[in-house]
Amino acid sequence: MKMKAALCKEFKKPLEIEDIPIPEVGPNEVLIKVQYCGICHSDLHIVDGDWESWVKLPVVPGHEVAGVVEKVGKEVKNVKEGDRVGMPWLYSSCEICDYCVEGDEPLCPNHEITGITRQGGYAEYMKAPAHFVTKIPDKLELSYAAPLFCAGITVYGALVRLNIKLNELVVIQGIGGLGHLAIQYAKAMGAKVVALSHSDKEKVAKELGADYFINSSKQDPIKEINALGGADAILTTVYDSKSIQNLVNALAPRGRLSVVGAAQEPIYVNPFDLITKRIVITGSAIGGRKLLREMLEFSAFNNIKPIIQEYAFEDVNKALDDLRAGKIVLRGVLKFN
Ligand SMILES: [Zn+2]
Ligand SMILES: [Zn+2]
Repeated sequence: MKMKAALCKEFKKPLEIEDIPIPEVGPNEVLIKVQYCGICHSDLHIVDGDWESWVKLPVVPGHEVAGVVEKVGKEVKNVKEGDRVGMPWLYSSCEICDYCVEGDEPLCPNHEITGITRQGGYAEYMKAPAHFVTKIPDKLELSYAAPLFCAGITVYGALVRLNIKLNELVVIQGIGGLGHLAIQYAKAMGAKVVALSHSDKEKVAKELGADYFINSSKQDPIKEINALGGADAILTTVYDSKSIQNLVNALAPRGRLSVVGAAQEPIYVNPFDLITKRIVITGSAIGGRKLLREMLEFSAFNNIKPIIQEYAFEDVNKALDDLRAGKIVLRGVLKFN
């Protein structure tokens, strides 16, 4: 039996859609019939060869997978045929080291990554270890659930680790695939939310729940945020180290700043600010299985969903080109028949 899959066989070349065998599942594995797969900025790094030493070619990218269980191995107990499930960035981990036992599997030294070190979801079917397949709550539509498996958990995890408290002033920098979800999570956590963007996204930011909007190409964000009393927490989703560094000046005493975009340049912080204001500068990447389940339940309960742009699977190369050209405003999702 064959399936269509989009393969990266050579870096910096379009993906090739080929008919390849449907994977055989082992006793502890699950075969997922993929229905939607989100398109993450990381997928560009993969196909463009930015992570050359890490990616094993040929690879099927895609780590925001939502679909239905087609088949389970004979030892599988946690999911059954027909269950609505998803697969995140985290494909598997050792399950016994301290990080794994504490639910912090992404820090496991022996973890594998969907669509990078293992075949991902840009295909009609993918196989996955049953212990890492996550059920999707009934209330979440699969098309909206897909991007939550990377974009959603990335910002939800960061906000949880920022320990947001009721009525705190929380700044979300960058209103794209990550930021537009972060606004919704921060609002649902009870924060007063400031959306900060260099382009005019006031309308969408406020519709998603932002209390304030600052356009950094027209206003001085430091002045504006400090006029509101300073930020208790800042989640920055941009790739510009300079603007991240500048935002440190908008932190209130005991303010926390978390970075989720892998900007290339270092960030310099004045030790005096660390001492006298006791600010915390940190970062966050995705989350373990427990946090993933919590994020999906939180999203379903609070009716949080991404704003998506759908592409037919066959148009995967156009979707990647659009993402590269900045034509996907919030989140692109591949749809399978
Ligand atoms: Zn991703
Ligand atoms: Zn481990």
